[in-house]
Amino acid sequence: MVRIGHWIEGKRWTGAPGRTGEVFDPATGAVRAQVDLAGAEVLGQAVAAAERAFPGWRDTSLAGRSRVLFAFRELLSARADELASIITAEHGKVLSDAAGEVARAIENVEFACGAPQLLKGGFSENASRGVDVYSIAQPLGVVGVVSPFNFPAMVPLWFVPNAIACGNTVVLKPSEKDPSASVFLAELFAEAGLPDGVLNVVQGDKVAVDGLLTHPGVRAISFVGSTPVARHVYETGTRHGKRVQALGGAKNHMVVLPDADLDLAADAAVSAGFGSAGERCMAVSVVVAVDPAGDELVPRIAERMRELKVGDGRDPGSELGPLVTAAHRARVQSYVDAGVAAGAELVVDGRGVGGPGAGFWLGPTLFDRVGTEMTIYRDEIFGPVLSIVRAGSLDEALGLVNANPYGNGTALFTHDGRAARRFQNEVEVGMVGLNVPIPVPVGYYSFGGWKDSLFGDSHAYGPEGFHFFTRTKVVTSRWPGPPAGRQLGFPRNT
Ligand code: NAD
Repeated sequence: MVRIGHWIEGKRWTGAPGRTGEVFDPATGAVRAQVDLAGAEVLGQAVAAAERAFPGWRDTSLAGRSRVLFAFRELLSARADELASIITAEHGKVLSDAAGEVARAIENVEFACGAPQLLKGGFSENASRGVDVYSIAQPLGVVGVVSPFNFPAMVPLWFVPNAIACGNTVVLKPSEKDPSASVFLAELFAEAGLPDGVLNVVQGDKVAVDGLLTHPGVRAISFVGSTPVARHVYETGTRHGKRVQALGGAKNHMVVLPDADLDLAADAAVSAGFGSAGERCMAVSVVVAVDPAGDELVPRIAERMRELKVGDGRDPGSELGPLVTAAHRARVQSYVDAGVAAGAELVVDGRGVGGPGAGFWLGPTLFDRVGTEMTIYRDEIFGPVLSIVRAGSLDEALGLVNANPYGNGTALFTHDGRAARRFQNEVEVGMVGLNVPIPVPVGYYSFGGWKDSLFGDSHAYGPEGFHFFTRTKVVTSRWPGPPAGRQLGFPRNT
């Protein structure tokens, strides 16, 4: 049986395993590996390695740090297909989708390569006569990164390149469901010249996460996962004096006005609803059809869904793969059952649809006339289940989106610029698409939701990532001139 372990101080950790977990091939249902689940001792070793590496890495020149990132970018580009295969084998998403994940991850690395420009401080000459004032951005120290199962390469690379570009050292705790991608990334970083201990990977579950949250050597935590865990991470981490950004779950609404191009909207709803089998935090899970758009839109969505090919992600003909585990498939299917029981109109039933064998299959499901009191509307399902809610007006649609506790992504489909401008202005959501269903910001903006989709002040990656991974210091300096004399009053700038 393949064993997936930790990566500490530049090499695979070879100690005796304690607790382990199973890693599945979701398309066959077979166990493909055992993953080590770290306890406090291994976590302590990883943090200690990162602490040892910090002084040397902090003092490495900006040119030296960005050179490692440029080299890593080249290696990652050259081996992108290999990484995509690793993702598909453990996550189940189709290969083209996994390749898209890697491509977006590379954009984050490219942003981090600009560290010398991004870390420039301000300088004010003669703030007072003969006195200069300037700011410098310094790394925090050891930072922890905790990632979810659904983007096993991209989410770690939302944080790791920026964290190390800023001079920090990292302990990464990937999802135990698809842990291989992180070790692959750590090996590539080592090959790119990253010194031992700057990036460490600890495999594990809640025990390892709680260890990071309470370890006095860890200065900051970047977390991505479900909302209850994000809230726990934010509250525990901040209580232990750490800087924390914790990105949580989502329920993304796509609003379709009657003047929209309904074919474009139907294509977008199907792509954004069922890509990656709905296991994306930016997936569209609710379409709000503003009257009378629904009567024409629902059949167009259903028609497209019936053509979707569910199958093994390694098969180039497949458009959506299995769910990540049997337990997750059972949970998602229980929502389909609940929707039927609650009286929503089942337009397309995905139960029993899927590829061959014992894979974790569930086909795409569509409910119409979903009520906002139903669990299929209220909860994040994180699977291939799309709900249509009918609304009488843009006002009503906006009210629905704003009343939802989540605020990750949303989209409006229309030709009406005035309606679009009002929507972008009034909607209480962090990432907005106008005729774009999955508005994931490019690497030089930052990613983050509002409300229960993000706890903390900083969004992920881009400029806010650099802000999160540094703290600023302001220096006021005067170099010896004529004696200034004694002055006990608060210094005035003259
Ligand atoms: P999850 O919350 O179950 O796990 C995320 C991480 O936390 C994993 O590394 C896991 O090992 C760890 N963890 C799990 N339970 C824990 C606990 N009780 N205490 C401490 N740590 C714990 O999430 P998941 O199922 O891996 O990923 C799917 C979720 O992530 C969805 O809710 C999705 O919306 C969200 N997500 C959000 C974003 C975003 O940017 N907002 C991006 C991707 C995924």
